[in-house]
Amino acid sequence: MRISFFGAARTVTGSQYLLSTDRGRVLVDCGMFQGRRHMREQNRMDFHFNPAKIDHVILTHAHIDHCGLLPRLVASGFRGRITTTEPTADLCEILLLDSAHIQEEDARYDLKKWKRHGRGGPPPQPLYTKADIPPTLELLRAAEYDETVQIAPWLRARFTDAGHIMGSAIVELWLGEGADTTKVVFSGDLGNVGQPLLRDPQPVDEADYLVIESTYGNRLHVPAAEHDAAFARLVKNTIQRRAHLIIPAFSVGRTQDVLYELNKLVESGEIKHVPVYLDSPLAIRATKIVRKHRDCFDAEAQAMLAVGDQPTDFPGLRFTPSVEESKAINRTEGPFIVISASGMCTAGRIRHHLRNHIGHKDDTVLLVGFQAAGTTGRYLQDGGKDVRLFKEWYPVKADVVSLSGFSAHADLKGLLDWASQVKGVKGVFVTHGEESTCLDFAATLHRKLGLKSYAPEAGYAAELGGDDADDATEEMKTIWARPASDAEMTL
Ligand SMILES: [Zn+2]
Repeated sequence: MRISFFGAARTVTGSQYLLSTDRGRVLVDCGMFQGRRHMREQNRMDFHFNPAKIDHVILTHAHIDHCGLLPRLVASGFRGRITTTEPTADLCEILLLDSAHIQEEDARYDLKKWKRHGRGGPPPQPLYTKADIPPTLELLRAAEYDETVQIAPWLRARFTDAGHIMGSAIVELWLGEGADTTKVVFSGDLGNVGQPLLRDPQPVDEADYLVIESTYGNRLHVPAAEHDAAFARLVKNTIQRRAHLIIPAFSVGRTQDVLYELNKLVESGEIKHVPVYLDSPLAIRATKIVRKHRDCFDAEAQAMLAVGDQPTDFPGLRFTPSVEESKAINRTEGPFIVISASGMCTAGRIRHHLRNHIGHKDDTVLLVGFQAAGTTGRYLQDGGKDVRLFKEWYPVKADVVSLSGFSAHADLKGLLDWASQVKGVKGVFVTHGEESTCLDFAATLHRKLGLKSYAPEAGYAAELGGDDADDATEEMKTIWARPASDAEMTL
């Protein structure tokens, strides 16, 4: 049996792993590459395999960097089933439609440029369109959490809660039959213990091989209590100064986390009534899907529901789906809070709110998610003095504050704690992190847990099964010898 790594290999986007046996082939995740141009160009390359010859797809969660290339896989001939959890299937529908819309808009913009600049090469085409989404959604099959499903005679799967976003899963795969079975476990994106709304990542008792994410594999988050207090302080200051708090947030995950924290402050009476606008059609749809899957809430959120408190709703919260409602926000008197997309301020309504508030010294822009290099969000985070919005420059006078505690990813300690519970592991593949983070985390796994850990590059394949007692390669020894990171030292 062979495992191949085609994406999220020494980088954070484009998750795509292939398991091939003599009985069949299963693809785990089929994500889009995001970020800088050379990353995005990979989305248009041919798949490294024939999509028609893939028997099954397993999907860990609905983030676009995990599911965003499924429409292309289907358009290129894939006809099998895509097995995932029910909330993920629901979220895929809105996120893939939104992604198709963005692809169409980008292609329209590129086409204009192409016409202006002498029409060199073929005219730009969208990566996929909205018409590609229904055939993709038709192939989705929902599995219950914790239930073992027989996908093929040679393939069983179990989805357990990963605590990352609604519907996210750790996937245990059993390949082969009887004594000749190899178990490969994919962590998916792992959430934090004690995360709002969601249950904690579930432990896995054993695995032959482990594929683990490493987004924060060499960093530690600030303690939750410190984070909550900082957030409460910001909200109270905004109200006191009759100012405005502008929060760019990802539609799925971070938006609901912020609503949850605000709900706690309002319901406990810690803050008085303040208008909070959820100003993003996609985030509104995502919030409704999250509320629908209340059976996936953790005990704390269940307890809120039991006494009649919806954990993501509170007096003062308003949805503003239409453009007119969105524009009307700025004509209101007094303090308010706006949560809007996109999370890195690269597109969407948040750019209008930034234009309206970035020049006000009493206002605050609160960054709650990861800000990738090259984005407006990252520029603000790094202390940029003027910001370019809608082709004009605006001086930055508002406070720009970052709170990393809203992260949907486990930190170094969370990842190590989770990995340490898995018994019988013959080898670990560290993925889904920036290159040096993948390498650091592989070294830490080896040092702290004695695990044979590798950080595969894109295109790397490994043979699994057998005794697998072969000695470490020189490359692995070099990786394991990396000096400990600051976070590892302070653990
Ligand atoms: Zn994710």
